[in-house]
Amino acid sequence: KQYVYAFEEGCKEMKDLLGGKGANLAEMKKIGLPVPDGFTISTEACNQYYVDGKKIAASIVQQIEAKLVELEEKTQKKLGDTGNPLLVSVRSGAVISMPGMMDTVLNLGLNDISVEGLAALTENQRFAYDCYRRFIQMFSDVVLEIPKYKFDRVLEGQKEAKGIESDTELTVEDLQSIIEAYKGIVKTEMGFDFPQAPKEQLMMAIEAVFNSWNNDRAIIYRNYNEIPHDLGTAVNVQSMVFGNMGNTSGTGVAFTRNPSTGEARLFGEFLMNAQGEDVVAGIRTPQKIDELKDVMPNVYEEFINVSNTLEAHYRDMQDIEFTVERGKLYMLQTRTGKRTAFAALKVAVDMEEEGVISKEEALMRISPQQLDQLLHPTFNEQSLKAAELLAKGLPASPGAACGQVVFHSEDVIKYKDKGLKTILVRTETSPEDIEGMVGAEGILTSRGGMTSHAAVVARGMGKCCVAGCGEIKVSEDERVFVVNNSVYKEGDFISLDGNTGNVYLGQVETVEVGMTGDFAKVLGWADDVRTLKIRTNADNPMDSETAVKFGAEGIGLCRTEHMFFDEERILYVRQMILSSTKDDRVNALDKLLPFQKDDFIGIYQAMGERPVTIRLLDPPLHEFLPHKDEDIQVLSKELEVPFDILKTKVMSLSEFNPMLGHRGCRLAITYPEIYEMQVRAIVEAAVHCKKNLGIQVDPEIMIPLVGHLKEFTILKKLVHDIADPIIKESGIELSYKVGTMIEVPRAALIADQIAEHADFFSFGTNDLTQMTLGFSRDDAGKFIGEYMKKEVFEKDPFESIDQTGVGKLVKMAAELGRGVKSDLKLGICGEHGGEPKSIEFCYKTDLNYVSCSPFRVPIARLAAAQAVI
Ligand code: ADP
Ligand code: MG
Ligand code: MG
Repeated sequence: KQYVYAFEEGCKEMKDLLGGKGANLAEMKKIGLPVPDGFTISTEACNQYYVDGKKIAASIVQQIEAKLVELEEKTQKKLGDTGNPLLVSVRSGAVISMPGMMDTVLNLGLNDISVEGLAALTENQRFAYDCYRRFIQMFSDVVLEIPKYKFDRVLEGQKEAKGIESDTELTVEDLQSIIEAYKGIVKTEMGFDFPQAPKEQLMMAIEAVFNSWNNDRAIIYRNYNEIPHDLGTAVNVQSMVFGNMGNTSGTGVAFTRNPSTGEARLFGEFLMNAQGEDVVAGIRTPQKIDELKDVMPNVYEEFINVSNTLEAHYRDMQDIEFTVERGKLYMLQTRTGKRTAFAALKVAVDMEEEGVISKEEALMRISPQQLDQLLHPTFNEQSLKAAELLAKGLPASPGAACGQVVFHSEDVIKYKDKGLKTILVRTETSPEDIEGMVGAEGILTSRGGMTSHAAVVARGMGKCCVAGCGEIKVSEDERVFVVNNSVYKEGDFISLDGNTGNVYLGQVETVEVGMTGDFAKVLGWADDVRTLKIRTNADNPMDSETAVKFGAEGIGLCRTEHMFFDEERILYVRQMILSSTKDDRVNALDKLLPFQKDDFIGIYQAMGERPVTIRLLDPPLHEFLPHKDEDIQVLSKELEVPFDILKTKVMSLSEFNPMLGHRGCRLAITYPEIYEMQVRAIVEAAVHCKKNLGIQVDPEIMIPLVGHLKEFTILKKLVHDIADPIIKESGIELSYKVGTMIEVPRAALIADQIAEHADFFSFGTNDLTQMTLGFSRDDAGKFIGEYMKKEVFEKDPFESIDQTGVGKLVKMAAELGRGVKSDLKLGICGEHGGEPKSIEFCYKTDLNYVSCSPFRVPIARLAAAQAVI
């Protein structure tokens, strides 16, 4: 079996085998771009390495050696040679790009002898020793896992001793003494000398890349991005080209379009006389890509051509890494560029207009989840003007964030556990900080450019980030940062504007953004494609308006219980609950009626003529009562009922398992008066809207928690008995529907019976999930994390519908229902209604609509279109 492929043997379609980096290097080679020669050890070899108990099998070693000989022939150099040494980079490359997650070793092949060869060959001793110094440092970090700071300390110490700022000022002698010190560290830490045999170096490095597939930060990254853990990584071995060979050499990274704004213009940075990670690591401040035009006009022109070629070839924005060696350009990597939601929209719309991609492709280019970024607030202009500007950095990732300053990833988590929002402030971030970056509201770094680790990772996450804010001096150890001689410490509030790079003191107020421009256009395309309707879960006029603004086509779930908590009416609600006679209860309900009616009028008005599904009261009654003695005391005064009696009553209503207790339609079977009042309010409000406001509303009345047919038929009759006389008396025409939630598993099982009487079903997948799984939603938090870790579930079943189990019930109920009534309206109203995977499931199950919270409506519109494409 072939485990090792020369670049010439691959192409971009071979990603699974060669990893993203390897496949794209091969592809670039194929289309004639200048790529240094090399070969790729496949992901299958990585998986085999784990199967073989972390050993590289002899047959694979043989294949590697054979390809190495080929490479030596192609380059006319030899690994470890004294006269003409071949140096290689060993680069990891997973199937899905994982920026900064896996480690690369450069300049491999150098040792005490070949370094002289390199020096003679290039007539540049300084350069050769600089390469060797870097190699020992990287190899020790990545392969030997000796803490990096031990080496940094030596380097910094040498610079300080010589009174110099930049690495490039180090002399040959400086570098040689640094190398000796480095070797000393290796000997002390490892107990053996720094490996001198190039083949041994190579095999150790390859193994280290295989091992890095399972390092902590790679695992965290995969978890966060839902990348499967069994893909494995490929390893690329590539002959080195040198950006650190003097002033006609350099290295850089660029995007074919701006990854923050989407602007169709080359965007990137480069550093002269530098190697590899120097640009990204923010060691020196890089120059803008445009300036390359002045430094090396020919190279610039060639680079423009190459990036145009690449974008046209891949038909998407590319993220490119390149190096220039003595005036000659080499391409080292290309991949699809990560971008902000804002940029994703602009690039998709622009490319459609440029005729590069179709509307459908454009829709598939945008991740629904990412749209969330655009719906979240920016700073309020007024409040921004008043705010005190603390410092200015680079606008590395857009958005607005406000929180308390913390300096360590662990502290983000500590604050978060207390429900506090944080801004992670660091000199620069590294992959170790991922967890903190995930948890923080925003990220502020004092070093690094637009392509620094912090910037790239933050953009990928859609997290606000200000990078390279040189005015602030951060001391992580003392947990402070200093600006203009003022000291700010952990816990202080700051605000970040990711669109301008501004850092403000204190908490700046935020505002919501509108849906215009490219956003509106793309969602318009989505609307043309999708067949699922998108409704919203809303129970007040404001949320309803927001949802309509975002494109909601109706309300799929209006929860009436939220209305009961209003300060004024909660007293009547409590009076109603605590009544001991029906008369008392009806009295209290009569006082609630006008409130409920007004609620519905407000919602109908906000929704215009869009359908509104209202669910009758669902939660157990004790949720409306106080439970602490002092609160019961207060209530006893308000209601003029003795404390003891009240306390007994409250106690009697408490339940062992409220989720399965006296709630939903069970309430109405025992106390029909509550639903009677609600139906009256719903219908009278509709009559009022039609008569006085000219709005035609046909309410959809929904009965929750039905499990038996009789529950439904009894309550359906109740609805008719109340509604029909009101309509008749009003003298106008008004139709209404009566349907049920399918959320008790038994209801799904007898869906055909229920369908004979119901006008619609709405799958309440929150309850359906907890009852089907037998997981209490309120307690599942205690163990679901562990379940996810052990991969019992792929996804939290409360977040993404459990398609195999709960989904089967939904599908069955839909089929049973439609079998009886072919035009039965079907919808879903659980949290799942706003989650792309679940939406796709709903489309496939032929539901009519999904209903989700207002802020998820745009996400659902796009996801519903993607389900069709
Ligand atoms: P990552 O996946 O972290 O970006 P890479 O494998 O792309 O790691 O390596 C990081 C950097 O190392 C590259 O951007 C490039 O600058 C440098 N590099 C890698 N291979 C070579 C090579 N053959 N010659 C010169 N520089 C290289
Ligand atoms: Mg790279
Ligand atoms: Mg429910």
